[in-house]
Amino acid sequence: MNNPIDFEFDKQHIWHPYTSMNNALPAFGVASAKECLLTLDDGRQLIDGTSSWWACVHGYSHPTIIQAMQHQLSTLSHVMFGGITHQPAIELSKKLVAITSPKLTKVFLADSGSIAVEVALKMALQYWQGRNQPQKQRILTVKSGYHGDTFAAMSVCDPEGGMHTMFGDSVTQHEFVSAPQTKFGQTFDASELDEMRAKLESKHHTIAAIILEPVLQGAGGMRFYSPEYLIGLRKLCDEFNVLLILDEIATGFGRTGKLFAYEHTQGHDQVVEADILCLGKALTGGYISLAVTMCSDEVAKGISDSPAGVFMHGPTFMGNPLACAAACASLDLLANNEWQAQVSAIESQLNDELAEAIHFPEVKDVRVLGAIGVIEMNSTVNTAELQQQFVDLGVWIRPFSNLIYIMPPYVISKEQLSQLTSAMKTVAKNIIVSDHQASIISHG
Ligand code: PMP
Repeated sequence: MNNPIDFEFDKQHIWHPYTSMNNALPAFGVASAKECLLTLDDGRQLIDGTSSWWACVHGYSHPTIIQAMQHQLSTLSHVMFGGITHQPAIELSKKLVAITSPKLTKVFLADSGSIAVEVALKMALQYWQGRNQPQKQRILTVKSGYHGDTFAAMSVCDPEGGMHTMFGDSVTQHEFVSAPQTKFGQTFDASELDEMRAKLESKHHTIAAIILEPVLQGAGGMRFYSPEYLIGLRKLCDEFNVLLILDEIATGFGRTGKLFAYEHTQGHDQVVEADILCLGKALTGGYISLAVTMCSDEVAKGISDSPAGVFMHGPTFMGNPLACAAACASLDLLANNEWQAQVSAIESQLNDELAEAIHFPEVKDVRVLGAIGVIEMNSTVNTAELQQQFVDLGVWIRPFSNLIYIMPPYVISKEQLSQLTSAMKTVAKNIIVSDHQASIISHG
């Protein structure tokens, strides 16, 4: 088990996310992880500021999740979902139906975030087939969005920073309007929705759904926008007969300070309800891949009334019991509601400790929402160089584009969080701007 890591083999043979096989960026060997610490193969320990791409909210090796998974592993690690059901899937779906908005009653268990988005888009198209409007085939979305790397997901990512240009005609052409502009916490300017209205007025008969990330556009720029945008958007969807798909894959399960980011609309008006909702990442507490697409009774009925008569999706590992058991355990941990105090403590500490970074010469903006702290630089940073600097400072932070940000596990201690913010400031203060880093949007 404890063989030394063969970095040379890794470099020659294994793809890592968004890397080149000609000039692979260095990868660090991780031997183990516990709570908020990653232990490298050489024994160094790094404080985790990423929650492993925003998923590991309870920290690593949490006994409750491990126990649930071990029990499930020895009982039923996997069985096909076609014609078969099992308790972990039922229990998880019950929990999800209970904690999401009342309209969302049907659960599709998908394998990853991107697939949950594929499923959501397919649901929207099939719904309109079932409602005798098969011409509704286009998706409308906002710029600066990110929804995953598979083809349908790519087609609704930001058209300039995303991968449209790279794959050209192979990516379905959808409709885009400007990204939401009013920042979170600022007075909403309702005229922002004029462009959306104009687009819907001219194209609604071809538009099946609007998809967007509520309140936080993550990998597309870590942009926090006014929840009131969503209220206006929901009204437009109703007026023009278009479904609303909320992608909460990054924001779900407490990250922005609410259990789901759409709940930020509560104080302004009634909670905005999606017709279709995508969840992933922190669903299993970051222990194993699982995502879900939930929809309303009406959407499910429309799909079931479509010419196919069934929803046309069913992956091999659908409803994997091991993943469902991990998700149930993670949701039980969230249900004790400690996350609320944890996230709000993280939020105020991030506000206190990151504020001074706005005075650094290369810093454009500093912003915080829930357990998310962002230092936006004037230009794109060199991820590999900064990564090394962060490791030298004893932390694991992975910047992208012009963003140095953290999304730590909710269980992080005050001291650990201070070490993360202090490393962010050290690196942001001393940054030498380089322009040889591709600025394409690439995951969070
Ligand atoms: N939607 C959003 C909002 C995301 O942030 C991501 C991943 N960063 C995805 C979808 C895709 O999820 P996955 O990487 O699990 O396919």
